Amino acid sequence: MATDEVGGGRSFLPRGALGELIGVLRADGYTVIGPRREGAVLLLGEVGSAEDLARGVRDEQEGGRYRLGPGDPDLGFECAVGMNSPKSFFFPAMQRMYRCHVEGERFMLDAGPAQVSKLAMVGIRPCDLAALRVQDRAFGVGESGTPRCAAEDLYGEARRRALLVVVNCTRPAGTCFCASMGTGPAASGGYDLCLTELRAGFVVEAGSEAGRSLLGRLPVREPSSAELELAEIKLENAREHMGRRLEVAGLKELLDGAVEHPQWDEVAKRCLSCGNCTMVCPTCFCSTVMDQTELGSATVTRWRQWESCHSHQFSYTTAGPVRSTVRGRYRHWMRHKLCTWFDQFGCSGCVGCGRCITWCPAGIDLTAEAARIRQAMAPGAVEVTS
Ligand code: SF4
Ligand code: SF4
Repeated sequence: MATDEVGGGRSFLPRGALGELIGVLRADGYTVIGPRREGAVLLLGEVGSAEDLARGVRDEQEGGRYRLGPGDPDLGFECAVGMNSPKSFFFPAMQRMYRCHVEGERFMLDAGPAQVSKLAMVGIRPCDLAALRVQDRAFGVGESGTPRCAAEDLYGEARRRALLVVVNCTRPAGTCFCASMGTGPAASGGYDLCLTELRAGFVVEAGSEAGRSLLGRLPVREPSSAELELAEIKLENAREHMGRRLEVAGLKELLDGAVEHPQWDEVAKRCLSCGNCTMVCPTCFCSTVMDQTELGSATVTRWRQWESCHSHQFSYTTAGPVRSTVRGRYRHWMRHKLCTWFDQFGCSGCVGCGRCITWCPAGIDLTAEAARIRQAMAPGAVEVTS
């Protein structure tokens, strides 16, 4: 039963009602996506009930290392972010643009893009919520007047139809640094519902009319002052236990002046140019198109698939690749995230989720790379040509 608190303040959703939340969303026609344990990793995927959500499991993340182990059996959100992010659903790794066949001298359209699902993301993290807002800018959704690429219809439609239930982070991983980026551990807006997990349930706050109406259909009650205080303590504790830190003051200007810094040569010796960091990054948005022709028929399907600035062919022109070296490609990626993204989109391209550190097979850590450059460029430290 909803209380007066539902109108604007915080409510308490008992743990047992998480299943009802999922049930109500499914009844409303949403495909519900949440964190699931899939073998050795946590992945966002479709959930049919609360039992599908990962529970009693916690993650250990470090540079080039990810492990799942037993956690508190009474808690469901002890893991930080898993390998994939909401990006995989709003901007799929491979998406059909159209399929057509040749008839006489004409191309005839057989099928356009697959229909965009109505998604309810349950249990996404504040950094991933912030990443969606970053992608919104790249794909031309929302805020008018923002520098952006051409509007992206498929992404825009998926975002407009989506409902977002964020769960604040109370146990950041070793590679997290959202507190440095101002994107976590607590969400600051852009959600429909925001939950903070306690043992008996969740302190919950609505951030939209859709969220308020959803709460009105759930058995929420007024939270006790002890529950509210405990939720604050947990978030403060998370803030103080970030695995990583990135000093962002003046970082854009620093990287603007570090185009020829010797650190790029050093990191190039370790970087494998595999592109993992771009695939797992929740804000990377580059793609290419691929035409698939079927042998023995006159049918062709055009796909859009993710592409990485770490690949040799990514910047290929008739004169050859613009970024032909590992040094140039890593530099481009890191400077884009932390420096030139501001020029392009008016915000940081990094939200501090830490995935690029965890999933880099060489354990390359952009917070450490940025710190090395900062240290070397401190007055009197190292001579740098720029
Ligand atoms: S650059 Fe790395 S830490 Fe930043 S948002 Fe992308 S994956 Fe996360
Ligand atoms: S930084 Fe790491 S994940 Fe990224 S391309 Fe290089 S080796 Fe691969």
